[in-house]
Amino acid sequence: VICDDGKPRNAASSRIHGLIPAADLTPAAFREATRRSLRSYGEITCHAERVSRIEKQGSRFTYETHTGATGSARSVLLATGLVDTLPPLAGIEQFYGHTVHLCPYCDGYGYSDKHIVTYGKGEDGINLSLMLLLWSPHVTYCTDGEDLDATRRTHFESKGIRLEQRRITALTGNGRTLQAIALEGGAVLSCSALFFATSCRPASDLWQTLGCAADKRGSVACDPLTCETSVEGVYVAGDASRDVLQVASALGEGTRAAVAINKRLLRKDGLMP
Ligand SMILES: Cc1cc2nc3c(=O)[nH]c(=O)nc-3n(C[C@H](O)[C@H](O)[C@H](O)COP(=O)(O)OP(=O)(O)OC[C@H]3O[C@@H](n4cnc5c(N)ncnc54)[C@H](O)[C@@H]3O)c2cc1C
Repeated sequence: VICDDGKPRNAASSRIHGLIPAADLTPAAFREATRRSLRSYGEITCHAERVSRIEKQGSRFTYETHTGATGSARSVLLATGLVDTLPPLAGIEQFYGHTVHLCPYCDGYGYSDKHIVTYGKGEDGINLSLMLLLWSPHVTYCTDGEDLDATRRTHFESKGIRLEQRRITALTGNGRTLQAIALEGGAVLSCSALFFATSCRPASDLWQTLGCAADKRGSVACDPLTCETSVEGVYVAGDASRDVLQVASALGEGTRAAVAINKRLLRKDGLMP
């Protein structure tokens, strides 16, 4: 049984990058192709709705969805993902996922040698700016009013990163194409893309209500080989658990978890030592 209320993290993105078979597919087209393929496996039931509760009762788990549908299962795989907080920049929704991005690994390649603006507070913004030099030497870091100490300033200058301390008042462009950042005082900074550092949170607290232990970063801890959490029979895959937040890793972790779940059930049924 698959329960998915259909709000994937990359919903705003124009294309999936870094996953060869899905190159040039939108996230929606990728999910539709996956669902089509799943329909050929007759034993799979899909509920397009949110799971509100999962409880362990003896050796089984019972679940309930928001509309009150209920059921039970021998194992649970949590692939509930993350939700990102967009920075409060006027106009950001128009460009997000097209020319405004958060992940250099997903979208940096498209801006080789173009002018990239970075945005983010503290260490996260600093690290993001340095990282983007891998893709382009033309990086401007917008600190949004924050000051940088002299050491950092010198380091940035030596790397060729320009600093912009005036606050951003708006993002402007044509359609989904970002063209400029408007700054307080009326100045305008032309650019091809903006990358931002932001915070994110788990899209679901089911792992907490199930009693799964957290790792030191505060997300759900799991065995790196089997993806099993501290609660026997509960597994986790994708952005909900790990460090490399990409579709390919989510698929790999899902496969790992599926094999481990299958082996656990075979052992429970006495079919495997
Ligand atoms: C703007 C953007 C662009 C990106 N671009 C790329 C890219 O080009 N290439 C790449 O590899 N990665 C990209 N990523 C990262 C990628 O989106 C994630 O790594 C990937 O979606 C993780 O898959 P997942 O299955 O763990 O989570 P998700 O894809 O987020 O799916 C989780 C699903 O679980 C559902 N859900 C959550 N809680 C519940 C609940 N209680 N009940 C039922 N359903 C629930 C959600 O609604 C959602 O549909 C991008 C991310 C962002 C934000």
